[in-house]
Amino acid sequence: MEPEQLVFETTSGAETQRLGEQLGALLAGDAIITLTGDLGAGKTTFTQGLGAGLGVEGAITSPTFVLINRYHCADGRALQHADCYRLANAPLEMWDAGLTDLFLSEDVVVVEWADRIPGLLPDEYLDIVFEHGDADRRRITLTARGPRYVHMLRQLQTAQSGAHR
Ligand code: ADP
Ligand code: MG
Repeated sequence: MEPEQLVFETTSGAETQRLGEQLGALLAGDAIITLTGDLGAGKTTFTQGLGAGLGVEGAITSPTFVLINRYHCADGRALQHADCYRLANAPLEMWDAGLTDLFLSEDVVVVEWADRIPGLLPDEYLDIVFEHGDADRRRITLTARGPRYVHMLRQLQTAQSGAHR
């Protein structure tokens, strides 16, 4: 049966990056991915892995002060990395910054602190929640919002089981 939700427990930043890299490597076209969780939960760490999986060269840093960072992927797509942290009026500021236009683009769009812009989110996206456990332990819950993301989770599940064999 196709999963609508996958839950992973990671025990290091590197492991969270690998999960992001696996997801990035299977993204064939555009995608919208929302990241939610407390400061230090691993959202940016995951995005760095995602960028590696997409063939982004160079460092991915937190876009906290520029709202949206844009990176070139290996194949001409862009990775758009938005962060709603610290915005007094996140929906208005992100709308002004053009985030909703990016949702209609061919790019891969990642939004940290997406819970701050509920009204701007599209109908379909991949929702990822990061929760702190003890020390370096993190619980990462991926929920598909819409059928194409259910398919994406199935691909990720297959990639994961291959990696652990
Ligand atoms: P956020 O973007 O959610 O605020 P960051 O990814 O910037 O969080 O920071 C997460 C911090 O926690 C990093 O310093 C990272 O090395 C550390 N860390 C420790 N264990 C993990 C883990 N299992 N997953 C992700 N990050 C971890
Ligand atoms: Mg961050």
